[in-house]
Amino acid sequence: MKKPLTIWAVGGDLRQARLARLLQADEHLVHIYGLENAPELPRPCETGLDGVARADCVVLPVPVRGEGGFLNAPLCPRRLELSRILDALPPKGVVCAGQVDGALRAMAQERGLALHDYLAREELAVANAVPTVEGALQLAMEALPVTLHGSRTLVLGYGRLGRLLSHRLAALGAAVSVSARSWADLAWIEAYGYTGLFTDGLDGHLAGYDLVVNTIPAPVLGEERLKQLSPSCLVLDLASRPGGVDRAAAGQLGVKVVWALALPGRTAPETAARAIRDAVYHILQEQGV
Ligand code: NAP
Repeated sequence: MKKPLTIWAVGGDLRQARLARLLQADEHLVHIYGLENAPELPRPCETGLDGVARADCVVLPVPVRGEGGFLNAPLCPRRLELSRILDALPPKGVVCAGQVDGALRAMAQERGLALHDYLAREELAVANAVPTVEGALQLAMEALPVTLHGSRTLVLGYGRLGRLLSHRLAALGAAVSVSARSWADLAWIEAYGYTGLFTDGLDGHLAGYDLVVNTIPAPVLGEERLKQLSPSCLVLDLASRPGGVDRAAAGQLGVKVVWALALPGRTAPETAARAIRDAVYHILQEQGV
């Protein structure tokens, strides 16, 4: 990757502000737009998008889309129309964006723009699992009246989050059970010394846990299963919208549920920004910039 590149960071939250700082520390020519209320920006925000058409790279936030047709820009005092932002972007530059949906991709295509979704990259998902799991452990430690050491814990799902979380819980001295839906995952769960359960066969095996953490992006803890949990059990749901836990039923049953979204940005924005920076650099390298 050649240096310095002209890179615009547009909209977003604290992660985007820290990303701008990291890019500037790497000696790129950084322009910032739509982050006026962010603390410790490396330089003042641009007042308009003049000049963005000459950028080598534009980084849009994660998620790109805020409410309605606006850019996700919680640190900007103005509402920024997504269509007007896209109109200003350079067709030849590399436009990186987090969580690109079909409608957004179509809007970009109409303008001859190719959006590179950094959130869809495996290396970013794995890197994000680290602050997510640390954030989940922090929440569990704050909410539980007992230590994780010696606790009986159940992790639902054995993907990126499930694997790392099981490992961290075991390292802290918790008794770890893990549910999965494939024989291969169950073999790995047993190989690591955890107790394996089939996700489809959880009924009748849910009592006795101090902590249940869901990582499955599907409705896995409905009313019937929530009824089987011990009264003092804490449920942490890490699955993205709509989540995996029936929160209305949990409320009626008195089950304590914490739905913990966007943990990397909340618990470790610097780490989250570094992971985005690395993914953006990988995209630029692949695009021959
Ligand atoms: P992942 O690697 O795809 O793992 C998902 C796990 O759920 C896998 O074990 C998968 O099984 C299982 N699964 C998926 N659909 C299922 C179904 N219908 N029934 C039973 N099992 C099912 O995903 P991840 O990276 O661990 O992320 C998990 C969730 O957390 C996602 O919703 C992600 O967006 C979210 N997330 C949240 C945060 C946060 O801050 N809260 C941060 C990062 C990610 P198979 O492998 O057999 O398919």
